[in-house]
Amino acid sequence: MRRQRNTKILATLGPASSEPPVIRALFDAGADAFRLNFSHGSHSDHRARLKIIRALEQETGRPISVVADLQGPKIRIGEIANGETMIEDGKAFRLDLEDLPGCDTRAPLPHPEVFEALRAGTELLIDDGRVRLAVETAGADFADCRIVTGGRLSNRKGVNVPNAVLPVAALTDKDRTDLRFALDAGVDWIAMSFIQRPDDIAEAKKLIAGQAGVIAKIEKPAAIDRIDEIVDLTDALMVARGDLGVELPVEEVPGLQKRLVQLSRQAGKPVIVATQMLESMVAAPVPTRAEVSDVATAVYDGADAVMLSAETAAGEHPVEAVTVMNRVAERVETDPLYRGIMDAEHADPEATAADAITAAARQVAETISAAAIVTYTTSGSTALRAARERPTSPILVLTPRMGTARRLAIGWGLHCVETEDANDFADMIDRACGVARDENIAAPGQRLVVTAGVPFGTPGATNVLRIAWVPAG
Ligand code: PGA
Ligand code: MN
Repeated sequence: MRRQRNTKILATLGPASSEPPVIRALFDAGADAFRLNFSHGSHSDHRARLKIIRALEQETGRPISVVADLQGPKIRIGEIANGETMIEDGKAFRLDLEDLPGCDTRAPLPHPEVFEALRAGTELLIDDGRVRLAVETAGADFADCRIVTGGRLSNRKGVNVPNAVLPVAALTDKDRTDLRFALDAGVDWIAMSFIQRPDDIAEAKKLIAGQAGVIAKIEKPAAIDRIDEIVDLTDALMVARGDLGVELPVEEVPGLQKRLVQLSRQAGKPVIVATQMLESMVAAPVPTRAEVSDVATAVYDGADAVMLSAETAAGEHPVEAVTVMNRVAERVETDPLYRGIMDAEHADPEATAADAITAAARQVAETISAAAIVTYTTSGSTALRAARERPTSPILVLTPRMGTARRLAIGWGLHCVETEDANDFADMIDRACGVARDENIAAPGQRLVVTAGVPFGTPGATNVLRIAWVPAG
């Protein structure tokens, strides 16, 4: 089974997509990777979904990436008496640590660390910014605020504090438990929510110890301030437009999306554009024109992957949403303008053997109209360098590690197959041709550009390039 596009689709699983036939249908419609959202659902829900995905992999023979998305230090107000209250513009409102239900003049904010970071003038955005408070006086256990935008305040609504670096750890106790569970269950990526500093990534990497890749979700202004260091440390990036658009004025988001995609592409790290891409499809069987344009823009930007959240997790039309995304991505990628943009924003090779070989592979493949570039990789790093080239030909990734094949499933244009390492040059060519034929990537008589590392069987830098004719099967 071979996809006809390079941009990957990541679908979030939830109550609307927990049964094997639905997950299968999402895969058939185009989902290359699935997100398990640890802000919702129990460990047994996630375990059951993961089991279905791994069975689907067996059935289809295609490696599938699974992303465990940790909730992170999401701040919430406490309980409100009778569940909700209305608060009015211009009135005073107090947040404190008292364990008493809130009312229209005060509410509990059970996060002592947050009070430390509040100053006069700090804004607190509640319920995705629907309610806004401005701090007037803050102490160690209270903040007296003015209600800038009033409205409905209900139990445990989320709070964003955009203009403060909060003294909170990147991983809460819940995150640590979820992380342990996710790694034991065998997920491929850990997405980190609300990271603020490079250290947040470093800390997570220490705990993960290579068992999964790390995706830095960019959804806080503090993370944007130190984005270069974060890109350096992380394995992949997510443009988390939902919270980003609460923490920053919404009009900042499109430019940031372009900047983040460009930075990740330069670094050769996968970048996912996420949230509200086809939001109206939660309830409607067809998207709005604006949503179609949004998905297309992410593809034209050169993102590695586009993501669906509520559309597939809780919507009424999960499979249709993936179908639309698939069609839009396929269509954009046939546009000569798309190719023009990929070439114009092409990143120069770095001064390494692997980049020299991958850049050459791209050129050779274009010159001889090769059916594909084939990369042998163990860790996956060479495959990501090949994806960074954004070549015109498909990239067939051969790896002895199933974990690598799965992880790379979110990478632009990477079609991964688990196979043993080549023993010698003849085997390297035979194996590449055989797999390319079996996977419908090349037909007999077509040519392949194959890259590998010699000596064979020892993980190390890619240092050879060969051209191969695909023989009849
Ligand atoms: P979430 O992250 O869906 O976990 O909130 C994505 C976003 O904020 O855009
Ligand atoms: Mn978020």
